[in-house]
Amino acid sequence: MSERVKVAVRLRPLIEEELICKDKSICVETIDPNKKLIIIKKDFEKRQFQFDSVFDSKATQNQVYNDIAKGVVGSVIKGFNGTIFCYGQTGTGKTYTMMGQLDSDEKGITPRTFEQIFNEIQADANNIYTVQLGYLQIYMEMLLDLIRPDNQEVKIRECPDNGVFVSGLEWMEVESPQECLSIMNFAEKNKVVAFTNLNAHSSRSHSMLVIKVEKRQSKQHSKSMTISKKASSKLQNYSQDLITESDESIISSGNCVGTLYLVDLAGSERIKKSRATGDRLSEARSINYSLTALGKCIHALTGPKSTFVPFRDSKLTRILQDALGGNCKTALIVNIGPAGKHVEETLSSLTFGMRAM
Ligand code: ADP
Ligand code: MG
Repeated sequence: MSERVKVAVRLRPLIEEELICKDKSICVETIDPNKKLIIIKKDFEKRQFQFDSVFDSKATQNQVYNDIAKGVVGSVIKGFNGTIFCYGQTGTGKTYTMMGQLDSDEKGITPRTFEQIFNEIQADANNIYTVQLGYLQIYMEMLLDLIRPDNQEVKIRECPDNGVFVSGLEWMEVESPQECLSIMNFAEKNKVVAFTNLNAHSSRSHSMLVIKVEKRQSKQHSKSMTISKKASSKLQNYSQDLITESDESIISSGNCVGTLYLVDLAGSERIKKSRATGDRLSEARSINYSLTALGKCIHALTGPKSTFVPFRDSKLTRILQDALGGNCKTALIVNIGPAGKHVEETLSSLTFGMRAM
């Protein structure tokens, strides 16, 4: 039941450094959330793009969440896998979209996800849930666990029973949105230390928050389910039409695990070969390689069933193999900025988004 990737574009407002910059040219001619359309100005390269959702610079964090994330998070609670990516050049609002400013209306997808999960599971008296967090950073094809205080490198393994998994990843069981935020806070501090030690900037890495939601039926409910199942199979003998929707939802509910991946991708900008040398050039190559692999995998998954999907091309796609390839919901947010001087990067991001549809 793998569905097509839902692709959105979000244009951020001009930021201070752009307002005081000499070159004030803007490359976006039209951005129309109703027609889901974005047009790049003719002076640059007149191009028109259409996506599943288009957010202009006035779109609120709440609108973005309700349109893009809410459905994905809801299905993870029901036991499906889900992935939400933010893709774009550094400085276009990926982290703002994913994290935003905590404890305010400007909070992004991650804190809102914690709230939705705990609101929904607390409202469900029939099941018992366990929620666990894991937080990874992928830098130069190296996996760093940000929850482990020693920041140790972890490895990807594959086994017939569990599929692809990250061996040694520290999972934290959490019981409230506040607890999730304090773990994120701790991990962010670890990230600063890790990247200082690596002499690198964390925007040159992919950040992946993994939220595992496990659902088990409470004993009382199991009993009622047996009765319902019996009743419904009896009914099934009479007529298919007699089974009501609520019966069906009881039948389909069971013990299950849904995993959600919230991925703030490394900046997609191409580093001019002449400017980058040594470590910075290797970083750029590694990012380019993994983003290309991601694009190829998503594109292949939208093609005919028999299409080969090159999950093994990068760590990023390898980890997401089961999430993207199985029963899942996937959303891609392409973040762009309005400045004319970055039109090349903007066009390249919009093209990446188009190919994922
Ligand atoms: P990225 O993670 O893509 O490098 P950031 O999320 O750090 O980019 O955003 C760069 C700057 O732009 C930050 O100061 C951020 O607060 C601001 N910004 C990004 N998107 C928005 C938005 N939609 N509204 C207001 N400010 C934004
Ligand atoms: Mg960022």
